[in-house]
Amino acid sequence: MTHELGIRRSHALRAAVGQELVSPGRPVVGLLDIEGVTRSVAALKAAFATPGVAVTHTFAVKAASLVPVLALLGEYGLGAEVASPGELALALAAGIPADRIVLDSPAKTTAELREALALGIAVNADNPQELARIDALRAERPSSAAPVGLRVNPQVGAGSIGAMSTATATSKFGVALRDPGAEEWVLRAYRERPWMDRLHTHTGSQGVPTKLMAAGVRAAYELAERVNAAAGRRQITVLDIGGGLPVNFDSDETSPSFAEYADLLRAEVPGLFDGRYGLVTEFGRSLLAKNGTVLARVEYAKSAGGRPIAVTHAGAQVATRTVFVPDAWPLRVLALDAEGREKDGEPVVQDVAGPCCFAGDLVARARPLPLLAPGDHVALLDTGAYYFSTHFAYNSLPRPAVHGYTVGPGGEVAFSPVRAAQTQAELLAESGAGLPPLTAPPLPAPPQGQGRGQEADRHSGQEFDHDRR
Ligand SMILES: *Cc1c(COP(=O)(O)O)cnc(C)c1O
Repeated sequence: MTHELGIRRSHALRAAVGQELVSPGRPVVGLLDIEGVTRSVAALKAAFATPGVAVTHTFAVKAASLVPVLALLGEYGLGAEVASPGELALALAAGIPADRIVLDSPAKTTAELREALALGIAVNADNPQELARIDALRAERPSSAAPVGLRVNPQVGAGSIGAMSTATATSKFGVALRDPGAEEWVLRAYRERPWMDRLHTHTGSQGVPTKLMAAGVRAAYELAERVNAAAGRRQITVLDIGGGLPVNFDSDETSPSFAEYADLLRAEVPGLFDGRYGLVTEFGRSLLAKNGTVLARVEYAKSAGGRPIAVTHAGAQVATRTVFVPDAWPLRVLALDAEGREKDGEPVVQDVAGPCCFAGDLVARARPLPLLAPGDHVALLDTGAYYFSTHFAYNSLPRPAVHGYTVGPGGEVAFSPVRAAQTQAELLAESGAGLPPLTAPPLPAPPQGQGRGQEADRHSGQEFDHDRR
């Protein structure tokens, strides 16, 4: 039985080809299932809804840094988790109110902190030095109403992907809670700052099991209880439990679901939901991944060493992690015909390559798929987060266009623009075109007499002869 998500996607893939959103001149495009996004948001909200508990769901902007998407999420009441001045600008451009924005970056500059405090954006300090900067800034502006928290690393351990594991013993994020003296420092930091009213942890992302995430949340909750006990009052009023729900990249089902994770938290950390704390979440990948698809044309179909290779226009520029760390980030790939319909030929083991000029630019290796031919298409599934929205500028390939889609009851597809493709002019400007050439002293003249130049010529000549043998 095909999942509704898959049915909407097949309609959209055919329509995107039919309406020439993808074409020889625009050989790769990102597609976003708007109804799917709506359903993901509804599932998130339903999972955490608890009478008497104020929950603010922020969306981790890095997972889909696209203003129309942020604006849609904002319409549904979501906020934004930002980690750079650019991400903050996107959230504000999307109309997300400041009181629904959280700033979490390990390298916030003083200027960024000043702006956040002035706008009333919640800041989670990463370390004691940052907290000292916040102290100084608050002294400049004692009226600041911006909530301030501290990020802690509960050091509960790693998941299956090292680069995504934020709660290892030596993770770069937050105050490492189990280090000698750390908890004493945290208790003192709150005692000395009665205005500090939040505590933050983000225990993992893709590859971290939910049990481990819950253990991290539990450690943060228990710390908040100790801070409040030491303060003799409810000083910490909001727990920011981060995001990081892993995504299954192997089917259209969503597993684990937001409901499963929220139920696990209710079982493991019941005090989180008893109304004494407000909650902030920061999910990214799990809200968007399943709702996005990369659609690309097959330019050539060749063979090397007996292996068929489809050379497509979707590679490292839109599937960076899959290309560079294929075992951690496998993607489902659909083989589509020239009209964008799923091909149904006998599966043939083949590579699906991208357009980048390095040998490893493959989105699938030795994958059994109906044999692809020039003019066919491929779809990379579950790429709504961190893929087409997080373009990698290798080979000066342009950022592809992104289109949202809705599918009517008769299968009719309506597209709306989410991001225009990067133009050649933008690409040139980004690469410094129009700036004056670098000025530099002339190359030194070659030495007089029996020159090195002659020697080098002789040498390279020998090498050439050698190569010819
Ligand atoms: C990246 C990040 C998130 C979102 O992580 P996902 O795995 O995309 O859900 C949330 N909070 C912080 C602090 C992050 O760095």
